[in-house]
Amino acid sequence: MDIREKLPILKEISPRLVLGHIMRAGSISRADIARQTGLHRSTITRIVASLLEEGFVEESGEGDSGLGRRPVMLSLVAGAVHVVGIAIESTFVAGVLVDFNAQITERMEVPLRDASRDAVMADVYGVIDSLLERAQEREITVLGIGVAMHGIVNSHQGLSVFAPAIEWRNEPVAVNIESRYDLPVRMENNANAMALGESWFGNGQAVENILVVKVGSSIGSGVILGGRLFPGTDYSAGEIGHLTVLPGGPRCKCGNLGCLETVASIDAILKRGRELLKKGEAQSLMAFTGGDPNQLNFEKLCQATFARDPAALRLWEEVAAHLGLALSYTINILNPAKVLIGGDVFPVLDYILPKVRETVGIQVLQPLKSHLRLEPVGLGQDSVTIGAATLLLQDIFELPKSNGWDHV
Ligand SMILES: [Zn+2]
Repeated sequence: MDIREKLPILKEISPRLVLGHIMRAGSISRADIARQTGLHRSTITRIVASLLEEGFVEESGEGDSGLGRRPVMLSLVAGAVHVVGIAIESTFVAGVLVDFNAQITERMEVPLRDASRDAVMADVYGVIDSLLERAQEREITVLGIGVAMHGIVNSHQGLSVFAPAIEWRNEPVAVNIESRYDLPVRMENNANAMALGESWFGNGQAVENILVVKVGSSIGSGVILGGRLFPGTDYSAGEIGHLTVLPGGPRCKCGNLGCLETVASIDAILKRGRELLKKGEAQSLMAFTGGDPNQLNFEKLCQATFARDPAALRLWEEVAAHLGLALSYTINILNPAKVLIGGDVFPVLDYILPKVRETVGIQVLQPLKSHLRLEPVGLGQDSVTIGAATLLLQDIFELPKSNGWDHV
């Protein structure tokens, strides 16, 4: 099902093109849209008239033309369109309701009760049901549902090809959700969705080549090249978590030794912290665990980090060195202008990024460093759910630009 079926005016390319230009500019005159799109002024006037009539666009005061008559400016009616964004993570399901500008108007999150197929889908449906109920109470029309899911996702068929944390193989997640709600559903891998959201609405706006890295209980990345998501031949581009950073290191769930994920994921750092505590090598950290190494969890590690506990800071420094190495390999191959880091580690990024930048500064070739920026994601801990919603929004605003990477 296509979101354009829900909005007949969007079946033609020209209104989508005009909407895309208004969205990106925030506020723009008819003359400037004509200049930027190359469409004739009379065509723009006609399209804008129908967008005004449908309530998607409003006139928002006068602009400055320098001389002569001041042009009337156009902007989006933010509340005209809403979509749902869902993140299916390995331990929880999160959902948001966002408007035309990807601003969140409702948000919720539930922990997964268990990893069985039916239990996970019941939790997903529970979150979607609640968001749609709230939309109904507020008399908001919802046009579609975007789903971001961990593991390998065939985004063309809306299939969870493999989700190791909950042992799913070839689950037709999008089809199931679509038939239950009679709404268009788009699906992507969670790091890819995050990259898309950052590219459209976060710290990656107006940047052509971006690497967006998600660090949580696993590590993945999404690659934006030429302004478009690069999925790879088997929907598996950006598997940065399985670059070898410590030869002969811990065994990874993929079978190899010393993958980034085995030394820099949250699970890995907690395991390492508990080991150090048991060996008596992180005494200061013990105060945060009530004297029991097994009580060390992510929340307690964050508390210790914010209190600048030296053992906690040392743990993050190790993570940053490994992450910096894996990023350097990837930067040397892709030559991105920006690397954005997010995921569950977002709250402690201030303690990780300096060392990551230092490592990247040493490892990355000089010519690739001149435009390189390494920053936190702009959408914070909402970056995956907003990215999921962006899967639908891009169908509304998509400009007709193709680099041949899309699976049509
Ligand atoms: Zn691995």
